[in-house]
Amino acid sequence: MKSVTILGATGSVGESAFDLLQHEGGADAFRTVALTGGRNIARLAEMARALRAELAVTAWPDLLPDLRDALAGTQTRALAGPEGLAEAAAREADWTLSAIVGAAGLAPGLRVLERGGVLALANKETLVAAGRLVTATSARTGARLLPVDSEHSAIFQLLGHEDRAAIRHISITASGGAFRDWPLERLASATVAQASCHPNWSMGQRITIDSASMFNKALEIIEAHEFFDIPAERIRVLIHPQSIVHAMASFCDGSSTAHLGVPDMRHAIGYALNWPERRALPVETLDLASIGTLTFDRPDEGRWPALRLAREVMAAGGAAGAVFNAAKEQALDDFIAGRLRFTDMAQAVQHALESAAGQGGFARSPATLDEVLDWDRAGRRAAAAWKGRA
Ligand code: NAD
Ligand code: MG
Repeated sequence: MKSVTILGATGSVGESAFDLLQHEGGADAFRTVALTGGRNIARLAEMARALRAELAVTAWPDLLPDLRDALAGTQTRALAGPEGLAEAAAREADWTLSAIVGAAGLAPGLRVLERGGVLALANKETLVAAGRLVTATSARTGARLLPVDSEHSAIFQLLGHEDRAAIRHISITASGGAFRDWPLERLASATVAQASCHPNWSMGQRITIDSASMFNKALEIIEAHEFFDIPAERIRVLIHPQSIVHAMASFCDGSSTAHLGVPDMRHAIGYALNWPERRALPVETLDLASIGTLTFDRPDEGRWPALRLAREVMAAGGAAGAVFNAAKEQALDDFIAGRLRFTDMAQAVQHALESAAGQGGFARSPATLDEVLDWDRAGRRAAAAWKGRA
């Protein structure tokens, strides 16, 4: 029986993973080692009961008594806080999904790699902030990283046995988010509610706003660079409003292969769950004839400065990824709280990168989690101090 752990089980990706496990037989088909969540204790306990989880963890220590109450009468042990998350990640499981949002996913994800586990990674922030550390840790322990971000799952499936030297470039697609067709001058006044509506994907609020600002795609370019060891200049972004083609690989012989599918995260999660096999999933088959038209365009970096910043981060190296991710998280917090305008986020992030460059942040890649977290804090501080704040 396959043993599984879901870090961030109560989020959008976590719910899709839970749905898949239930579909495949639930507690009779999987041994659930640990489930973690945040403030939604009722849902975490419900999932733990359904999957007969051995351990349930809330990230918030003040909610431990509530979690214990909610799990009364079950065999599930309740834990909380960073130690609880570390315990969930450290316990042996055949397959662990990291579906926590933000840099909070870093420590537990690295813990899985430390034990040489299989880590299915939805938490792109792990690779953006600590790419070199992740790669070095996996190489040392024999851990296996599997992509769950849809574009990266697509690239993974496209590259298969292909020789890396034969790749001319990789394209990942972006829907263009909520503001693709907005006139540029309107963007500054975009509200949180407007930025929180994605045209095609149903996701957590933070990644949805990151899709509108294209910071999500910026993170994904860096994620692809780190995951597949593809040079930055060979990674492209294509605006593709229908979100049917997820990625494309172009080869030296002039041919290109593309990965297509309906926008449903259960494909990428299920692919990682069953890898290296391909098994039936409760995902709709693509009907191209009824879709009719697929369109593509080049992204306008004037509209989306996040894409330019991603290129600067990859060129800089060192701790630039950690600073970039953290500054983006701070700027997003500030936008959600009404302290920054939508278009100010990129400026605050740029300021944080410049400040880190002045402190020698790009000289070498962080070699430990503590170093990554130091640069993470520096990035947040600098973004929060940006002078253009309202
Ligand atoms: P979400 O906000 O819906 O869920 C996040 C999960 O993390 C929840 O279980 C929450 O309780 C937990 N969490 C939040 N803060 C935490 C903290 N400080 N410590 C520990 N746990 C915490 O997010 P999501 O949309 O499911 O995204 C999760 C990750 O997957 C992100 O990295 C996102 O970029 C990536 N991703 C998401 C999608 C998608 O379709 N939603 C697609 C591709 C990649
Ligand atoms: Mg994606």
